Amino acid sequence: MSESAARALATMFERMSRAIETEKDHLSELDGAIGDGDHGITMSIGFKAVNAALAALDLDAASPSEVMSTAAAGFLDAVGASTGPLYATGLRRAAQVLAGREQLDLAACRDMLAAMSEGIRDRGKAQRGDKTMLDVWLPAAEAAATAVADGRSKRDFWAAVTAAADNGAAATATMVATKGRAARVRERSLGHLDPGAASAAMLVRAMAETL
Ligand SMILES: [Mg+2]
Repeated sequence: MSESAARALATMFERMSRAIETEKDHLSELDGAIGDGDHGITMSIGFKAVNAALAALDLDAASPSEVMSTAAAGFLDAVGASTGPLYATGLRRAAQVLAGREQLDLAACRDMLAAMSEGIRDRGKAQRGDKTMLDVWLPAAEAAATAVADGRSKRDFWAAVTAAADNGAAATATMVATKGRAARVRERSLGHLDPGAASAAMLVRAMAETL
């Protein structure tokens, strides 16, 4: 099973990259409204680097944990600014929680989502409601935990997770930014989606489509 789990994660990162490429201009437009307009480019560079790093990995020999730690290193190498350390920390935590596990069952997916969201939260020192990517990752992780606790099917698990992510991203339009660059414009950020939350919802969807 180890080959297929590692390969599934590599496929997930390819899908993430493709989703970001498709929406790159849109993400930069969202960022332009409340930030410096580079979010689409930044995420594009980051996920291209992730896939380049994974291309150098032997997926027949690699564990799921190694795929995640390689992705973390690739992202951080390419993106030094805010988003880089946030996702690198999230992915590294995911690598830790997957250590010794060869299967991506729903419990593993739940733990991976929890580890990612906690890593991003710890690194960014943000909370829910701060109008950041955490407004997607935290509710997605919670929905995953609830779905496993309720014994949901795989289909229902991912439906709940993506719904929580999409709702979280949409809710950022009603929030005032207090963290990151958007905090400089504060009230003016009201009515605008947070670009980091919008891209996070795309990543969660790519996860759901693959896993
Ligand atoms: Mg920016």
